[in-house]
Amino acid sequence: MAFLDLINVSKSFGSLPVVEEFTVQIEKGEFISFLGPSGCGKTTVLRMIAGFETPTAGTLTINGKDQRPLKPNQRNIGMVFQAYALFPNMTVHDNVAFGLKVAGMAKPDIDKRVKEMLALIKLDHLATRFPYQMSGGQQQRVALARAIAVKPQVLLLDEPLSALDAKIRVSLREEIRAIQQQLGITTVFVTHDQEEALSISDRIVVMNAGRADQIGSPFEIYNTPATRFVASFVGTLNLIEGKVVDPDNSRIMIGDQDVTLKQSVTAYKPGDTVSLALRPEAGSLAESAKGDTALTGEVISVHFLGSVVRTRMNVAGNTISFDMFNNPRRTSPTVGERVTISFKASDLLVLP
Ligand code: ATP
Repeated sequence: MAFLDLINVSKSFGSLPVVEEFTVQIEKGEFISFLGPSGCGKTTVLRMIAGFETPTAGTLTINGKDQRPLKPNQRNIGMVFQAYALFPNMTVHDNVAFGLKVAGMAKPDIDKRVKEMLALIKLDHLATRFPYQMSGGQQQRVALARAIAVKPQVLLLDEPLSALDAKIRVSLREEIRAIQQQLGITTVFVTHDQEEALSISDRIVVMNAGRADQIGSPFEIYNTPATRFVASFVGTLNLIEGKVVDPDNSRIMIGDQDVTLKQSVTAYKPGDTVSLALRPEAGSLAESAKGDTALTGEVISVHFLGSVVRTRMNVAGNTISFDMFNNPRRTSPTVGERVTISFKASDLLVLP
């Protein structure tokens, strides 16, 4: 049994199922992200952990204790929401002190704990400010301090960065991760931003229509997606259609180009169509690459994105993007040119 256990949890609103047989086992001190598109049920799972929603079926335990009979205030869970939910009429100090007061802590102990928390989020100099006198990023750090001041057994973060601008988002997510690791607090982070999830999680649950499609480390989720949905939702992906010609030798055709896969296709018959996935960063122009597999096509577009140049080419009706690091000494391909990209056969994955 893990620290935070959700086993076959389902939730319906009326006759509408929004979470179905959701199972995830989260270890103590783990940082896990629920990643998925809008409406896939991420917040609903979080709200069930917090006690704001009751599961229709399944079990939910923390440290072996069934949480279902407990009200939200009996669960010892810290929460940070997307909108800055600070008390507007209280100072930073009083916001962070709030939960401690409710818990009946003595004033000197409260002051000591608030001081520690404000030092942790590096805002000790703003203790007397009110929320309206602070930036969004600062307010979210106070919200984080308020949530962890009470030493919750689980910290739930519901898209806490989505209202912030891009630069602050990146620095604050790193700060959250550092604080989480320092305190060893078990954390569930909800996001629809795949880069955010990949960058800070121990593991990611990719959710699709109320179900967990895949649970794994960022590396596993990105490099070995279990389903077509995971492959296309996480990162940019080329989907390429191929025809099996020789299943025993893993040979397929992409248009009139012969490719030998690393993956077995013995489950298919000659003539079957397979969907293949190739990440843009796996391919590079043939003259600069060391791959064992190549595809030739016509360049459709070239986009300069700063550190990388993304080129799209047409190969037998498939649009394939590939990324190259920007190199001022090399000329980029031009639209209409025929180019060959090279990659490792193992980078071309057959999708289930
Ligand atoms: P987002 O990223 O947009 O917040 P989400 O993945 O967190 O999405 P949820 O908020 O969990 O999704 O909602 C999942 C589904 O359940 C949605 O279709 C939503 O409309 C529905 N839903 C959520 N709460 C209720 C409710 N109280 N009554 C009826 N339907 C609800």
